[in-house]
Amino acid sequence: MAKKQFKAESKRLLEMMINSIYTQREIFLRELISNASDAIDKMYYKALTDEQIVFDKENYYVKVTADKANRTLTITDTGIGMTKEELENNLGVIAKSGSLAFKKENEQKDGHNIIGQFGVGFYSAFMVADVVTVISKAFGSDEAFKWESKGADGYTVVPFEKESAGTVITLKIKPNTEDDNYDEYLEEYRLRAIVKKYSDFIRYPIKMDAKGQRPKEGSEEELEEYTEEQTVNSMVPIWRKNKSELTQEDYDNFYAEKRYGFDKPLKHVHISADGAVVYNAIMFIPENTPFDYYTKEYEKGLELYSNGVLIMNKCADLLPDYFGFVKGMVDSEDLSLNISREMLQHDRQLTLIAKNIKSKIKGALQSLLKDEREKYEQFYTAFGKQLKYGVYSDYGTHKDVLQDLIMFYSSAEKKLVTLDEYVSRMPEEQKYIYYASGESIERIEKLPQTEIVSDKGYEILYFTDDIDEFAIKMIMSYKEKEFKSVSSGDLGIEPDADEQSSAEEESENKDLFEHMTAALGDKVKSVRASKRLKTHPVCLSTEGELTIEMEKILKAMPNAQDVKADKVLEININHEVFQSLKDAYATDKEKLNLYTSLLYHQALLIEGLPINDPVEFTNDICKIMV
Ligand code: ADP
Ligand code: MG
Repeated sequence: MAKKQFKAESKRLLEMMINSIYTQREIFLRELISNASDAIDKMYYKALTDEQIVFDKENYYVKVTADKANRTLTITDTGIGMTKEELENNLGVIAKSGSLAFKKENEQKDGHNIIGQFGVGFYSAFMVADVVTVISKAFGSDEAFKWESKGADGYTVVPFEKESAGTVITLKIKPNTEDDNYDEYLEEYRLRAIVKKYSDFIRYPIKMDAKGQRPKEGSEEELEEYTEEQTVNSMVPIWRKNKSELTQEDYDNFYAEKRYGFDKPLKHVHISADGAVVYNAIMFIPENTPFDYYTKEYEKGLELYSNGVLIMNKCADLLPDYFGFVKGMVDSEDLSLNISREMLQHDRQLTLIAKNIKSKIKGALQSLLKDEREKYEQFYTAFGKQLKYGVYSDYGTHKDVLQDLIMFYSSAEKKLVTLDEYVSRMPEEQKYIYYASGESIERIEKLPQTEIVSDKGYEILYFTDDIDEFAIKMIMSYKEKEFKSVSSGDLGIEPDADEQSSAEEESENKDLFEHMTAALGDKVKSVRASKRLKTHPVCLSTEGELTIEMEKILKAMPNAQDVKADKVLEININHEVFQSLKDAYATDKEKLNLYTSLLYHQALLIEGLPINDPVEFTNDICKIMV
């Protein structure tokens, strides 16, 4: 019997594919099962148009059988089968897909559930097998054939005996090598796991024999082995089910089964879209931050299915970075896949789906915020930082999507509040949205700079994450109200009439402050009378865009830039200490310099800034003790 050669281009393609198209060997099983499912689908469509054929569901299934002793794995289906010509044409020419031709022929009919279209999936069997044997009998034919190939060097086709229509594919599994373990493809539990992972939602039963032990009949001690045929796949995917049929528990189970997380989801989003693009999706907002979430090891993405078959574990294109915490899956019939199914071609449909999904996630978060506040706060504690990074990233491009979802701790409410809540409470004369930055809520509460704003009865937002001020700089203003740091130069608050210092007083102090500024050298831009301090003697404020918190953060970055906020040392002229400064200015400049240095260092401490020379500072304190 003459061995037929694969067509020349096929030979190269075959080698290439075995080595490179697929990144994971286990997907050979997905491909063979998909083909079997396609073959049954073809019977189903035939029955739709041919009254002679009765499609009795009972008779259609796929069976996977492993034989360890002979190192064979067999995939049997009761589908449409192949004629001799089809065996030669479909399996003998790579990149020729019988399924694509079938789809084209049946365009008018509803044939688009068929998965195959590239004509390479079958060859993935050679990733794990030395020899592949296909015995097939076409529906309506009375002869069967055996096709066999050892890979790139060609194939044979001979007549064979087979009772009913369908196909039996037998893989002779490769022996193990030092680097590669092929035995796993003969292990029942492993095969089950692969079927579950990729083919759980194939519409026909995928059967496997399960071996077990049970007490022998009539005996209490003796056990006997038995084999039982089980259906491994669940067949109807939960995402194709009607939302009204599903309970919260169903969704929670799905989340756990899929190992999206070990927590419980806070909320799920179930989409059945049949508009411009047809897809189903189930997505979850997790309760807890995954341990690696804010590291570069974390990979965002949703599972992507094409017609119930998993084609990608983490499709990153489906989620914007700022919603990277979302877990779940998308199933669509409309995707144009590339040959390996592991990559998507640049796809308009996918872009549409991603856009759609983005707004659904936003909607879900908004309704959580509106209707289940406590849960939203829980979510925000876990992932709020991510949203704020989202506001900051890409030069603020996404701020409109996100600004209503972010929250900050409020001095007035003592809990997280939204910007909308803040603005809606603002007294009419209040010009700005005030915020204070610091390491922790406790520390910010003690900041002298907050005094005048709090005294006015204005709410202050506490910024405790590094990203906060940077994110706010991108938003700039919310509902026409600008943000203002309580440490910034001009607070937009008029001091009460009785506290207003006279022009006379100001010029009187001018020389004193100039002297103090000079004494501090380039440490501060200026020293001046504070308009914000009430009981505290001293604080630092800044002029310009860069605040002290931002300076700290930028300095702590890996490739730290030499940035410096324009600092101003503010003195409370109503504090007793100020009289001492005036006296020293009049009588003892040396002393004034000492006091100035001490006050400056105190202000640094209050800000949580490091003191350059602590020894000098403590010595200075001793000087005033003696
Ligand atoms: P694709 O599925 O993308 O068309 P494959 O390489 O997986 O490409 O399969 C090639 C062709 O071989 C299929 O299109 C189909 O016509 C035929 N084929 C493969 N497996 C079977 C099967 N179990 N039953 C019937 N036809 C099959
Ligand atoms: Mg295929």
